[in-house]
Amino acid sequence: MTFRARHLLGIEPLAPPEITALLDLADSYVDLNRRAHKHGEALAGLTQINMFFENSTRTQASFELAGKRLGADVMNMSMQASSINKGETLIDTALTLNAMHPDLLVVRHPHSGAVALLAQKVTCAVLNAGDGRHEHPTQALLDALTIRRAKGRLHRLTVAICGDIAHSRVARSNILLLHKLENRVRLIGPPTLMPAGIADWGVEVFDDMREGLKGCDVVMMLRLQRERMDGGFVPSVREYYHRFGLDAEKLSHAHGDAIVMHPGPMNRGVEIDGTIADDINRSVIQEQVEMGVAVRMAAMDLLARNLRARPREVMA
Ligand code: ASP
Repeated sequence: MTFRARHLLGIEPLAPPEITALLDLADSYVDLNRRAHKHGEALAGLTQINMFFENSTRTQASFELAGKRLGADVMNMSMQASSINKGETLIDTALTLNAMHPDLLVVRHPHSGAVALLAQKVTCAVLNAGDGRHEHPTQALLDALTIRRAKGRLHRLTVAICGDIAHSRVARSNILLLHKLENRVRLIGPPTLMPAGIADWGVEVFDDMREGLKGCDVVMMLRLQRERMDGGFVPSVREYYHRFGLDAEKLSHAHGDAIVMHPGPMNRGVEIDGTIADDINRSVIQEQVEMGVAVRMAAMDLLARNLRARPREVMA
């Protein structure tokens, strides 16, 4: 099994069997990662460059670990946000790196669409590690693997995604993936944090947590993305927590066995109560981090199989 595409730019172009195959492969990497000897050979001899134009803790660390565990030579480049505001600079950087013959380029960028643009200019495989508000495919895939392992299936579930939907690439990628596998998605948050055109997304929208959480199997909380806000989207953090912060009382409206997720970084006391986040009977937030490494190993493995099978050319 390989991906049809050379790159992993988003969930949108993936077919359901590609998603399932990736998750199956990732399951085997979860097993590998739990062994004392954690090394595989799938990326042996390949060079992986991580280019993060936006801050990251989990994603960058987990891509780095994923590459190293599969035998790649991994280089991290920390990019200065101030130097990338012109499209040309991004492309120039990409062309410079491309001349060093990387095989896998992992890119995070604050502008939606920037990673896809870059992918057209290089001869290696590009993985989108988050572009603006657009997509964060490996986050949705790791969320999917976490849900599948916790619930035993990844279809016909009711999943609530709560909070700052408007600025969230995590929400967008998750909605796309969950719909492809026939789940019901509810979005819960203040109307000011819902994206325009939400009526066409095939989701149910709520602005009341208790109502929206009723009967949900999965509760996914999102961070207030203040760095992407150009004005006051919520009256105050206190008010936001009161209405939309997940606490035990609000969670009691979901199914008794509903799991709680958060992509991180988490603001305790803003979108989630610390006790809920740490409750090992409800919260799978640490499992999400674990699944992140395995999913990124699987994604790079599948793209590397493509690289080995196809001649290299600029895709533009
Ligand atoms: N880490 C996720 C992202 O990069 C979520 C967040 O930052 O709130 O989109």
